[in-house]
Amino acid sequence: MAGVNYDAQMPRDPFADDPNDPASFLEADEPMPPLSEDERASIRQDLELVAEFQRVLAPRGIQGIFFLCEDCDEFHYYDWDIMAANMSATLAGELSPVHEPSAQPDVSAYVPWDYALGYLDGLDAR
Ligand SMILES: [Zn+2]
Repeated sequence: MAGVNYDAQMPRDPFADDPNDPASFLEADEPMPPLSEDERASIRQDLELVAEFQRVLAPRGIQGIFFLCEDCDEFHYYDWDIMAANMSATLAGELSPVHEPSAQPDVSAYVPWDYALGYLDGLDAR
């Protein structure tokens, strides 16, 4: 799937690599700055992908996505529902609870984002 501009590190702060992070200009208790249309479109696209991943992979025993968190230097595991909820929260202007991974995940039931993408691509190629 072209057009996904994140690698296996989803979900993440959309401004994580932005040197002009607008959050740095806000009061500490201000809500998250509004997302740009591009960011919203990107998150909506990812949200649709998560739904598709869940539809295709959940019946095969895959429960969600894992990624290496640069902040914690640990793997975080997210169920499909949690991923979708985080993205919906971001779209709603709420900070997503990125550091609240699933409790005691069965690590063999989670795949990297890129794996899920590749799996869908494989299905499309048939
Ligand atoms: Zn973390």
